Amino acid sequence: MRRQRRTKIVATLGPASSDRTMIKRLFEAGADVFRINMSHTSHERMRELIAMIRSVEQEHGRPIGILVDLQGPKLRLGTFGGGSAVVAKGDTFVLDASDAPGDAGRVYLPHPEILESAKPGQTLLLDDGKVRLRCTAAEPGRLTTQVEVGGKLSDRKGVSLPDTMLPFSALAPKDRSDLEAALDAGIDWLALSFIQRPEDIAEAKKITRGRALVMAKIEKPQAVERLEEIMEASDALMVARGDLGVEMPLEKVPGIQKQITRAARRAGKPVVVATQMLESMIASPVPTRAEVSDVSIAVFEGADAIMLSAESAAGQYPVEAVATMNRIAEEVERDPTYRSVIQAQRAAPEATGADAIAAAARQIAETLDLSAIMCWTFSGSTALRVARERPQPHVVAISPNVATGRRLSLVWGVHCVIAEDAHDQDDMVERACRIAFAEGFAKAGRRVIIVAGVPLGTPGATNMLRIAFVGSDQPDA
Ligand code: PEP
Repeated sequence: MRRQRRTKIVATLGPASSDRTMIKRLFEAGADVFRINMSHTSHERMRELIAMIRSVEQEHGRPIGILVDLQGPKLRLGTFGGGSAVVAKGDTFVLDASDAPGDAGRVYLPHPEILESAKPGQTLLLDDGKVRLRCTAAEPGRLTTQVEVGGKLSDRKGVSLPDTMLPFSALAPKDRSDLEAALDAGIDWLALSFIQRPEDIAEAKKITRGRALVMAKIEKPQAVERLEEIMEASDALMVARGDLGVEMPLEKVPGIQKQITRAARRAGKPVVVATQMLESMIASPVPTRAEVSDVSIAVFEGADAIMLSAESAAGQYPVEAVATMNRIAEEVERDPTYRSVIQAQRAAPEATGADAIAAAARQIAETLDLSAIMCWTFSGSTALRVARERPQPHVVAISPNVATGRRLSLVWGVHCVIAEDAHDQDDMVERACRIAFAEGFAKAGRRVIIVAGVPLGTPGATNMLRIAFVGSDQPDA
């Protein structure tokens, strides 16, 4: 099975997509990576979902990526007498350390660190920003605030502090236990929520030790401020527009999306644009014009992947949502303006052998109108650097490592084939040509370019480039 687009699709699984038949339909409709959101998934359920995805993968013989998204340190209010209270603009409202039920004047905030770290003048957002408070006084165990935007508050609603550096790591005890369970179950990507600093990524990497790649969800202003360092520490980024739009003014989100996508493309790190892309398809079989345009912006920008959340997890039209994204991406990539828009954001190669070879491979393949760039890659790094070039010819990664194939399923334009390692350079060229033919990337008589690091299996040592003819007698790879 071959996709007809370069941009990848991530589909979140949930109640609307929790059996094997639906997972298979989503894959066939275009999902390249499945996301499991640990805010709503037990360990048992996660293991069942992973088993179903692996079974669909085996049936289709194509690597499928699994992204486990950790909840992160989600802050919540305590409870109210009667379950809720209404606060009005101008009221004084206190958050304190007493676990007595709250009312319209105060509520328990079961996070002592927050009571100690918030300062007068800082903002507190409750219930996804529906209620806004401004801190007027901070005393030990007690924050006094003034209500700036009023509304109804109910038990355990979420709390965000956009201007406060929270004094804890991005791995809460639940995240550590979810992380261990996910690694044991064999996942490919791990997404970290509410990260604020590069150390948050380093902490997760100490636990993953290469068993999964780590994606930083950019959803806090503190993470936007330290984007370069966070990007350096992580393997991929997600523009998590849901919480980003709570913690920052909504009108800033499109610019930040562009900033993150461009920075990630420059660095050659995969980037996912997420949240509310086809939101109306939760309840409607067709998207709005504005949603189609939103998806197209991410595709034109050269994002590696676009993501569905509730649309595929809890909506009424999960398959239609994936199929719609698939159609939009295909059509945008066929648009005559697409190549020039994509090329405008291409960054110069870094001063490494791998980048010099990747840039040369793209240029030669485009100049000679070659069918495909075939990358022998053990860890995936050669394919990643070639994908960073966003070349016009197809990018095919050949790896003996199934984990590499699954990880690369998130990456722009990369079609990965799992195959035994080559014995020598001739074998490498011959097998790459056979794979290009068998997978439909090159017809007989056409040429492909082959990129590799020799000796084979030396990660990061991309140093070889060959042009070869695909023969008419290519047997199956
Ligand atoms: C987001 O906030 O955009 C996001 C992807 O995170 P979550 O769905 O976990 O809230």
